[in-house]
Amino acid sequence: MISIDRPTADLGDVRVTNRAAVLRHVRRHAPCSRADVAAHTGLNKATVSSLVAELIEHGLLRETGLTENRVGRPATMLVLDGARYVGLGLRVGADELVAVAAGLGGDPVLTWRRAFPAATAGAEETVKALAALTRRAVTRVTGAERTVLGLTVAVPGLVDADGDVPAAPALGWRGVPLAAALRRALRDPGFPLTVDSEANLAVLAEQRHGPYAGTADLVHLTGGPVIGAGLISGGRLLRGSRGFAGDVGHLPLAADGPPCACGRRGCLTALLGVDAVIGRLLPDAGPVTDHLPEIERIQALARAGDEPVRTGLTEIGRLLGQAASVLAGLLDPDVVVVGGHLAALAPWLLPAAHAELAARTPVPPGVRLEASTLGSAAGALGGATAALATVEAGRLPAG
Ligand SMILES: [Zn+2]
Repeated sequence: MISIDRPTADLGDVRVTNRAAVLRHVRRHAPCSRADVAAHTGLNKATVSSLVAELIEHGLLRETGLTENRVGRPATMLVLDGARYVGLGLRVGADELVAVAAGLGGDPVLTWRRAFPAATAGAEETVKALAALTRRAVTRVTGAERTVLGLTVAVPGLVDADGDVPAAPALGWRGVPLAAALRRALRDPGFPLTVDSEANLAVLAEQRHGPYAGTADLVHLTGGPVIGAGLISGGRLLRGSRGFAGDVGHLPLAADGPPCACGRRGCLTALLGVDAVIGRLLPDAGPVTDHLPEIERIQALARAGDEPVRTGLTEIGRLLGQAASVLAGLLDPDVVVVGGHLAALAPWLLPAAHAELAARTPVPPGVRLEASTLGSAAGALGGATAALATVEAGRLPAG
């Protein structure tokens, strides 16, 4: 399990730590017996039995059928119990809101998308829309007799430890106290509410779900209007001193490149951001507020072998390979996963990106560069996962 909590002082409670160890073992090895848990966590059998009883009572583990174990005695197997609790995740995209509710076992209980022009609506209207979506999701979840343990909102931008958003250029936001505003709009929702960057939550989702789950050194490069990176190194999310680590959108890639909104030229975002990609490949598109249909047009043209589009995608892929090589040089990850429109266009981007990355890798084989399979829900799925973090860290749910 990776640690996503911001550092806290109370590390003293041994029982909490042991509960977390039991949950972690069951997450990785379910179905497994109490004896398996004891053997692999180093806890004695009586302690494991007591912890498991408590976790079953609180609806975090459940027993499944009997299975013969190696010495021939039947053992009751344990799995995570996803029936009682869910974490809720919301994602604010430039043109859509996404809500995901997921149980402790990672099973998505609900995935909703709602077209919403967050980039033009302004922060106040977006908070109202997020509050409405949260209320509907909570009603659905509690109607199914589950309890929401927490909500984490993914924002494409910089997010500090208080859940304030000092800057989210993809949304046109500056200095938005999002966590406080959403708490107010929900009139104390009765569960913890946090905000984190989309890149951080997307890399958490990748680390937990899908084909790269369990990778200890992992980078997720977000697609969208502004490129950001979520960084997991040695199993830990890297936040940096203010929480802004991975803000790579203005990494200079080409001194003579296209102008960037920041006033310089050739930044990563100005070359690989969704507006830059659409502008380059579909010069007739004009300013775009709904990106998906334009990305689908690019896919159709690429499939049909349109020469300018194919050539453009190859050049963009080469730049993506350069960006990946910078991240590889800094962090030496196993995998760099690309999301958003970069994942949608991966069949045409990745061959050139791989060649560029290989040419810049001093010692092969080096980092893998792959497309995310989680789609635009990645940030919201990561939010739902993050909302379950206190329980996964061994805290029992209240009530
Ligand atoms: Zn820039």
